[in-house]
Amino acid sequence: MLVAGFVLVCLNTHFWRLLYQVVAPQGSFEWLFIASVLVVILALFNLLFGAFAVPYVFKPVMTVLLFVSAAASYFMDEYGTVIDAGLVRNIVETNASEVRDLLTLKLAAYLFFAGALPVYFLWRTRLDYRTIGRELLTKTAGAVLSLAVVGFVALPFTNNFMSVFREQRQLLYFLSPINSLNAVYRYVEKKSARPPPSLISLGEDARKGSAWLGRKDRSLTMIVVGETARAANFSLNGYPRLTNPRLAAIAGLINFPRAYSCGTDTAYSLPCMFSNLGRSRFDVNRAAKQENLLDIVQRAGFAVRWRENQSGCKGVCLRVPTEVLVETKPRGFYEIGDALDEALLRDLPDRIRALDRDGLFVLHMMGSHGPAYYKRYPLRFEQFKPACRESQFSRCSKDEIVNSYDNTIVYTDHVLAELIALLQAEDRQGMPTALIYLSDHGESLGEGNLYLHGMPYAIAPEVQKHIPMLLWLSPRYQQAFAVDTACVAGKGQQPVSQDNLFHSVLGLLDIETQVYDAKLDIFAGCRRSSD
Ligand SMILES: [Zn+2]
Repeated sequence: MLVAGFVLVCLNTHFWRLLYQVVAPQGSFEWLFIASVLVVILALFNLLFGAFAVPYVFKPVMTVLLFVSAAASYFMDEYGTVIDAGLVRNIVETNASEVRDLLTLKLAAYLFFAGALPVYFLWRTRLDYRTIGRELLTKTAGAVLSLAVVGFVALPFTNNFMSVFREQRQLLYFLSPINSLNAVYRYVEKKSARPPPSLISLGEDARKGSAWLGRKDRSLTMIVVGETARAANFSLNGYPRLTNPRLAAIAGLINFPRAYSCGTDTAYSLPCMFSNLGRSRFDVNRAAKQENLLDIVQRAGFAVRWRENQSGCKGVCLRVPTEVLVETKPRGFYEIGDALDEALLRDLPDRIRALDRDGLFVLHMMGSHGPAYYKRYPLRFEQFKPACRESQFSRCSKDEIVNSYDNTIVYTDHVLAELIALLQAEDRQGMPTALIYLSDHGESLGEGNLYLHGMPYAIAPEVQKHIPMLLWLSPRYQQAFAVDTACVAGKGQQPVSQDNLFHSVLGLLDIETQVYDAKLDIFAGCRRSSD
């Protein structure tokens, strides 16, 4: 407990400074939250360090741990260095002159006062161990007690823990010795990793079907993947607030009021909706080892493009040309450090004109990504007031949080309407165009005192799984591919899910392949002539 306390308080000053900046405590509740972080980590460290408390093991392990933490503390304080696998690689593969540059008097002072001195006291302390049986008993009791303390102290601050450590995961890179242990582990893991197994190809027989025969014009289909948009807050789905003023005015827009997600976070839902595994067979690793919808569409001869305005495509776009807006930072959308979704529309007409084949564009939105909802829309879209303008929910009322969330939906409504207007213009100039929109998962907004998302699917509340899904086909597209929109709209009243995306896109694009399953295609049976 003493070693744990020493490491936590004395060798983690950088961590506490960052936590203070992130929380920026104003009231006593937030100070209490910081105190609870201290108690929780202390209890967990006690548990971790206690695991080594056996004769001939404890002191050597703690010695290494103290020296490593002291050195890590120096590099974090002095350079703000992130302790990660890259740093371990640098240390292992560095040369003598680089090491000499880093050896400063200050580092020696850190190693002496924060490393050697406590190690000296540690070795002078006599440790008495009990018999094995009693030792096991007290250790188990201590572990249970530690976990009980963690639960008891963390419970009142669940939402603070969620919003701080979910959104600021990089904080953990500054917590010694977890960061060093994790860095060494990652380094060893990378070193010993076997080359990835070759990719399992899917739909090698994919080719354009009869609907394409004799067509000379190019078409464009667009999939817009929304973020954290929940169906319940779309006025198209009956939400009493007018959050879809522009989409509601678009004739022929088909709404799917009973659409469900595959997972409750981006990293799960995104690869799932583009894979053919479906929710029942889906697993992130399995999906990563095989091709997905985009590979098949590309193989059938389409120009597939991914435009990213969020945290990455989670492996889905690995083999298609990808543009990451966070890296290019278009002017006007990133000036205040935020990824406004209108950036996704920037010079789209030029990109469309540059197409030499039929195109499938995927736009990945920033959408309603929380907890900083207020950063997701320009101020003129702040229709519902007062809006929470904090990323710490404890500073806002539930109503303010919902207001800021609803404003993100109003902005999404605007972005989608602008996109459709753009596609309408292309249609008038002779190009059949289509848009499919669906969110990756929903969001909790205080129901049952829950916020954000990511609950295990089986126990996740409806609002985290019920997603908005929309379809718009230009007049030329409907005609070219003989889609009976009334039929699709009728089927759209039935429950659908992200499982339908893979087969419906293959169906809509009339791509023939063995992996296509008509039972999961929303458009199956809704073609006027060809069937
Ligand atoms: Zn997401």
